[in-house]
Amino acid sequence: MYSAERRRQALDLIDSGASLRAVSMATGINRSTLREWRDNPEKVLAARAFCPRCADDPVLPEPHADYAYLLGLYLGDGCISVGSTPAKEVWKLRIACADAWPGLIEECVRALQAVRPTSKVMMVQKQGCQEVLSYSRHWPCLFPQHGPGKKHTRKIELADWQQVIVDRYPGDFVRGLIHSDGYRGMNRVRRVLPDGEHWYEYPRYLFTNKSKDILGLCGAALDRLGVEWRFARPDVISVAKKDAVARLDEFVGPKY
Ligand SMILES: [Zn+2]
Repeated sequence: MYSAERRRQALDLIDSGASLRAVSMATGINRSTLREWRDNPEKVLAARAFCPRCADDPVLPEPHADYAYLLGLYLGDGCISVGSTPAKEVWKLRIACADAWPGLIEECVRALQAVRPTSKVMMVQKQGCQEVLSYSRHWPCLFPQHGPGKKHTRKIELADWQQVIVDRYPGDFVRGLIHSDGYRGMNRVRRVLPDGEHWYEYPRYLFTNKSKDILGLCGAALDRLGVEWRFARPDVISVAKKDAVARLDEFVGPKY
């Protein structure tokens, strides 16, 4: 069984007109397997629409780091709904990305394409933001947190296989959460000293979410990264200590 990623690479090479011999040398997949894929379009299609979760032998979605990032975006501010296409089983994943951060829009598009390369990504301009959309039958397989109502009104737990990925890539997961529902900005504090009033500025991260479960997942991932954090308010996680901000900067950094 070849991974989804290797199948995709091989199929793309075959499509580009490369010889089976060349594709075999480039991918390490033997020529008879490649010939079978080339000569059986329905198998090729099945491989292309390959879902790592509803496959007979479920595997982790790839690339793991992109999946962790996308999971953060989805839990922060994403939404899965029934697609408006005639085929009702098609689901729409929607992530709102502020116009103010074009780099983040690009990153969101790239992660969606990496995780579901066969699903087209579209953008719809809304007031002040782009809605980044992707249609697939498999979004609920990939994000089983999907359910009716707002996320904060229901229990949000990671499946065991999601936890495996988040434990391996906590930095990408937190990056996704902060890119969707968080912020890195300057905090101004006033100190009154004998020689008068002084203002100090220092960077800090805030992550705001109404779901206690999602705040808990964010806190657990920060713990795993060794980033000190606290609740600034019941629905806001703050990372403000100098060392903790420096550590989180290795994974997140300012929005761009
Ligand atoms: Zn599936």
